[in-house]
Amino acid sequence: MAQTDFIRAIIEKDLAADRHGGRVATRFPPEPNGYLHIGHAKSICLNFGIARQYEGTCNLRFDDTNPSTEETEYVESIMEDVRWLGFQWEGEALYASDYFEQLYQWAEMLIQKGVAYVDSLSAEEISEHRGRWDEPGRESPYRERSVEESLDMFRRMRAGEFEDGTHVLRAKIDMTSPNVNLRDPIMYRIRHERHHRTGDDWCIYATYDWAHGQSDAIEKITHSICTLEFENHRPLYDWFVTELELEEPPHQFEFARLDISHTVLSKRRLLRLVNKGHVSGWDDPRMPTLVGLRRRGYTPEAIRNFCDRIGVSKANSLVDIKLLEFCLREDLEKRAPRAMGVLRPLKVVIENYPEDQVEEFEFPNHPNNPGMGTRKVPFSREIYIERDDFREDPPGKFFRLAPGREVRLRWAYLITCTDVIKDADTDEVVELRCTYDPATRGGTPPDGRKVKGTLHWVSAAHGLAAEVRLYDHLFTRENPNDVEAGKDFIDYLNPASLEVLTDCRVEPSLAEAKPGLPYQFERMGYFAVDVVDSRPSALVFNRTIGLRDSWAKIEKSDQAAVSTL
Ligand code: ATP
Ligand code: MG
Repeated sequence: MAQTDFIRAIIEKDLAADRHGGRVATRFPPEPNGYLHIGHAKSICLNFGIARQYEGTCNLRFDDTNPSTEETEYVESIMEDVRWLGFQWEGEALYASDYFEQLYQWAEMLIQKGVAYVDSLSAEEISEHRGRWDEPGRESPYRERSVEESLDMFRRMRAGEFEDGTHVLRAKIDMTSPNVNLRDPIMYRIRHERHHRTGDDWCIYATYDWAHGQSDAIEKITHSICTLEFENHRPLYDWFVTELELEEPPHQFEFARLDISHTVLSKRRLLRLVNKGHVSGWDDPRMPTLVGLRRRGYTPEAIRNFCDRIGVSKANSLVDIKLLEFCLREDLEKRAPRAMGVLRPLKVVIENYPEDQVEEFEFPNHPNNPGMGTRKVPFSREIYIERDDFREDPPGKFFRLAPGREVRLRWAYLITCTDVIKDADTDEVVELRCTYDPATRGGTPPDGRKVKGTLHWVSAAHGLAAEVRLYDHLFTRENPNDVEAGKDFIDYLNPASLEVLTDCRVEPSLAEAKPGLPYQFERMGYFAVDVVDSRPSALVFNRTIGLRDSWAKIEKSDQAAVSTL
């Protein structure tokens, strides 16, 4: 079904009115100062999605006007992430830095028109003169500099004659405007810094406001879509394109940015998590970055469906992370191959099963999709089951294994627990002795007797050792951006967001497991091979997501606590 939202409604109106000659051109303009996160995915799905839907174009433009924070590493990761999400930009990737000369020429033009001037106040003085939202600004004593003098100084700024911070170029608009963005905004700053693409060619750098709309104009963007924080910048965006007297100027439209509960979506904050070692890197599977989500086992389909489902509106809100997880489960349920893995193993010896016998069962890779084929799973006298699947004194409603009780080993046999072996010192259960009923091969008793519990298992001799990493939300606080007085968002980090299990066993077919699409370990959730740390000789899996919404349970108990206060 085609998406609809207020931006698409505007586009359809523009198309009907034959504005821009029926052309639709959008762009995704990341600043290469960090890795992309799920918030960017919303913008990518919107911009590229619109281009696709209206047979238009979408550019990838690196907004690389700030030399100090930008790196080539980020440029490459951004391109990879956009492609991974399933989108391809028009032609080559573009860079605002390619427009530096044009932007400079346009700036000279505005000086010549008398609507831009070189100011020589210090940064502090400029900000002090700017006033506040409830108090008008004051004009700089340099505001009435002659065109000739401003032009000369601007050329000398470019030529490198001045130190950082000594002069700036400002647009001459209105120091008393109620919109602070129109109080003679800065267009250029002097910064003697190397740029990742233009090297030492420039020592003056354009501000976002000056570079962004003009880059849109150069690329003949029709609909420049950005987040709501820029709504107050739109009058300035329009002022620049009007003063430049462009034909068919671009227009800016704003939508609500994505925020998700229990995480932060600001590159500055994410960078802090990385630099301070709170996570292992940008690609830590707990991070909301696309590299992190990919490593965790998220699929591009799940993320695109999530973006479709949250829609596009003008009202900022916090989206519950459960919705993202729901979209993930929905996708994985259909597509993840099944397998068996035991996370906390307990050994079971089937005493009446012949010692040297090994049977190979053929199991479907997916219960409802025969097209996904089958795999062979060996069964033998000694197996591992989940420690949690056995209780010496089973409470009511515990239908799994207990002394004297019969359960089904998934698709194999029924077994009955006959003995419990414990560690003499600790009293811990270390092994179970069981018998099996050979007449129940495949897991179905011929006499139709009822067995309530079905357990997953792995043959002890054939299973592969693996490390499994379990994840929980990165922050305990629902909205870690909403920082209480005297606190820092870091204070809300979840100390239990990572649990590492080093002694797991998985079925041998997983030796060939490929990174990308997670497997469903029956009853345990979805697990993806870790692309960074897994080796054929030492498998490492990330739990992508549990099968059920464990968060809902926690929340319920929280609510229970609140209501009994
Ligand atoms: P951050 O706040 O994480 O630093 P940013 O806005 O500085 O993000 P950019 O690289 O400038 O990051 O963003 C590129 C595009 O992605 C912009 O058009 C921006 O509006 C959009 N974008 C960034 N964050 C979000 C978000 N949380 N939700 C929706 N769109 C976003
Ligand atoms: Mg930005």
